[in-house]
Amino acid sequence: MGLVSFKYTGAAILLKSPNDKKDYQFLTLTNQLKVLLIHDPKASSAAASMAVNVGHFHDPIERQGMAHFLEHMLFLGTEKYPQSGEYQRFINQHGGSNNAWTGTEFTNFFFDIDPQYLEAALDRFSQFFIAPLFTSELVDKERQAIESEYQLKLNDDVRRQYQVHKETVNPAHPFAKFSVGNSQTLADTEQSLAREDLIAFYQQQYCASRMTLVISSNHQLDELAPWAQHYFGNIIDKQLPKWAIEAPLYTEAELELEIHVQPVKDHKKLFVAFALPCIDHYYKTKPLTYLSHILGNEYPDSLFSVLKQQGLINSLSAGGGVSGSNFKDFNISFGLTDKGLAERDEIVNQLFAYIAQIKQQGLNSWRYREKQAIVEQAYQFQETSRPIDVVSHLSINLHHYEPEHVIYGDYIMAGFDEAELRQLLDYFSPSNMRMLVSAAGLTTDKEAAWYFTPYAVKKIEPERIAHWQQIGINPLLKLPPPNPFIVLGLNGTQTGPTTEKPIILRDQAGFRVWYKKDNTFNVPKGSLYIAVDSEHAVKSIRHIAMTRLAVELFLDLLTEITYPAEIAGLGYRIYSHQGGFTLHFSGLTAKQYLLVQLVLSTRKFGKVDSDRFEHIKSQLIRSWKNQKQGKPISQLFSQLTSLLQPANPPASLMAKAISDVTVDEMPGFVEQLYKQVHIEVLAHGDWQQQEIETLADYLLKELAPNSTPGAETKRRLVDISRKGSLVREVNCDHNDSAMIVYYQSMHTTPMHVARYTLANHIMSTTFFHELRTRKQLGYVVGSGNLPLNRHPGIIFYIQSPVAGPQHLLRCIDEFIDTFALVLMELTQAQWEISKQGLISQITEKDANLKSRSQRYWASIGNKDWRFDQREQVASALEIMTRADLIRFITQLKSRISDRVIMCSYGSAHDGSDKLTQGNFIWDPGEFKLMAPKFIN
Ligand SMILES: [Zn+2]
Repeated sequence: MGLVSFKYTGAAILLKSPNDKKDYQFLTLTNQLKVLLIHDPKASSAAASMAVNVGHFHDPIERQGMAHFLEHMLFLGTEKYPQSGEYQRFINQHGGSNNAWTGTEFTNFFFDIDPQYLEAALDRFSQFFIAPLFTSELVDKERQAIESEYQLKLNDDVRRQYQVHKETVNPAHPFAKFSVGNSQTLADTEQSLAREDLIAFYQQQYCASRMTLVISSNHQLDELAPWAQHYFGNIIDKQLPKWAIEAPLYTEAELELEIHVQPVKDHKKLFVAFALPCIDHYYKTKPLTYLSHILGNEYPDSLFSVLKQQGLINSLSAGGGVSGSNFKDFNISFGLTDKGLAERDEIVNQLFAYIAQIKQQGLNSWRYREKQAIVEQAYQFQETSRPIDVVSHLSINLHHYEPEHVIYGDYIMAGFDEAELRQLLDYFSPSNMRMLVSAAGLTTDKEAAWYFTPYAVKKIEPERIAHWQQIGINPLLKLPPPNPFIVLGLNGTQTGPTTEKPIILRDQAGFRVWYKKDNTFNVPKGSLYIAVDSEHAVKSIRHIAMTRLAVELFLDLLTEITYPAEIAGLGYRIYSHQGGFTLHFSGLTAKQYLLVQLVLSTRKFGKVDSDRFEHIKSQLIRSWKNQKQGKPISQLFSQLTSLLQPANPPASLMAKAISDVTVDEMPGFVEQLYKQVHIEVLAHGDWQQQEIETLADYLLKELAPNSTPGAETKRRLVDISRKGSLVREVNCDHNDSAMIVYYQSMHTTPMHVARYTLANHIMSTTFFHELRTRKQLGYVVGSGNLPLNRHPGIIFYIQSPVAGPQHLLRCIDEFIDTFALVLMELTQAQWEISKQGLISQITEKDANLKSRSQRYWASIGNKDWRFDQREQVASALEIMTRADLIRFITQLKSRISDRVIMCSYGSAHDGSDKLTQGNFIWDPGEFKLMAPKFIN
């Protein structure tokens, strides 16, 4: 077969975590395609990814968006498999999923599938790179899909700002090009047809030696190798030179700039960027990881903490920014307060003072060792990721790292190199910087192409540059102290008895503790969930909103206190929900108890600083109000759940409800929150039973639910049965129209869950294909499962720039009304394959400790105390017949069914026909109050 083994430049063995039981093999095929094969004996899904070193940087200047367009077109039929949609259908029918993205210099295609069908999927997939069809009429249709994708992001601030960035770099650099493309850049013109240019681009740029392929499966390596050669060996090698960029991203003219941008959302941000050269070759020592770690630290007296105390910023992050084969932006981003916006030069002053301090005192090998210990632990106890994520990630890594480092390259910190750090720090200078301020109300005089972003650019005045160049150390600022939470010399997991499922350790009025020791994944980590149910938290909209505010205040207070723990790999989240709120701790178990004590002992947080209070309150109100700027489909979605769940009020009402809350009310409110509670705990992972007994005693003492035990808060859900089609119009103030049609199950048995899930599984691909690919209704089109409070549900949704709600509803109804016929036409084999595909998805083994913890916790919430609902749903699916499903889908028919239709009229369809049929909900508050409810 002509297999040639990979040429190694270093050690002959790929380095992998001791926790990684997979086998790896490199090959270089005769056409120079680089391949990495992975044998994963335990995997229940197989996956493959092709990373192509071609991205939007390669687009012809007169055809911007071409690489992206090409990525879309490759899915739409090949000589061997001409039918468009065939590839996706094949993957979906066999329990898989697929996707692709186009970046600046790379395009990545990937899928996963039931391993039995891997070979057939590779056959289909490889044809993308051998003989795509570029069918004429599909070229026209897909151009519309690109146009919708472009339009979808017109109001996205990230995209809008990205375009300004593109217009302020060296115009000779490929970064300056528009990446997404639209119906204008990809139009047929008198000079050239899009299809011809597409084919020419494909032929000029796609080439085996620019590609890397990763395949992972439970098949043996010597089964996978011949497949790689057989299916991918025919990709043509055009011996193209290695891709390189000549022009620098910034010339002197594009440095020392101050750029002002007006965002759509009401946010205030400052970005200071330093222009660095390519950093790929630093991956072994990771000097920038070290610098971000110090610049972005949140210890007391850090840059972050001092600026926050001065009321200038709310957030700081260091190290992000665009990067590519000859450039890297090192960004320091600040979330600004009003004061910070006005005094932004003061922020830059402090930044340069901190940089001066790092140069003088901050380059120490012990700091490097701390960071090294953290990443080394992440590597040592690496957890399994989904095969599809692994292959897509590694196919890109193959382009960046030496072969033996394809995995370890993300973790390696080979040693402290002071000279190298100093060399890089020299780039952190005022003459090498750019500032970007994004805030409403800034004066602008330009408008960006494609996204119409208002902006302005000016050179930073020489006096300001000179001032920043002379700044010395500020004695108020301190570098981070040694971190007590870092565990050095961790050896592995603790031994001890385990149980098959979580068991109840304590069960008494107001208090229940679940426990399971789990060493399956061989990591010294665990998850600890503590749910606090409190009637006081959900008594009224005002209380619900105040609980959210209390959670935000609590989190804000905790930031500095828990910072070292987070750095050391311990994590926590606090989130409110329909019954109260939950604390979730995760990460290494060794010091988790300390963190729990630290957090809980702060929970009543006493007196709150009134400035911080006002700030956090207004931030929360703003984020609620900003939901009005979200995509129409997201707005409809949150309005739908609000309409049906009484304890989940709409954001606008919560914003109103807390507007008059004062700082003095908070301590009393928080006191009341903990007065009468029901506490449910799950400890899952590398815990000994004794440790959890001790924790339980501590929780009982600290939270004292025993004095006045509470009951679990009731979760309510509006029952829509016998209501017919309920219609709710929402005003979204957007060009596009949008619609969600929701069906609800009255029952919660495994059989009902099975029916809804299977219906969605079988309908989704056809729905997408019919309404998006064929009818071109928009870019956001789909169906999905939407279980609410244990009641299964299914939704169909569309956001459309081309049609109004009436037309959208007609298309959805037509689809649902005729789908029973589609189902009848399936062959018996196709039916079985679909069903089995879903069963294998549902019963898929847990990929890692975290996902198993999440599953156990969800089961506890669903009162699935035998932890076997998955198995029950799978058995219900086994016995489900096609006739059962046809009967079920017939019940969804538009004329007879009970459902909720959420819709929004886009400004593009103001004059379109209005919906007239159905029972309109004019007052959602009253509707929610009066409607009968399921109580769980
Ligand atoms: Zn796309």
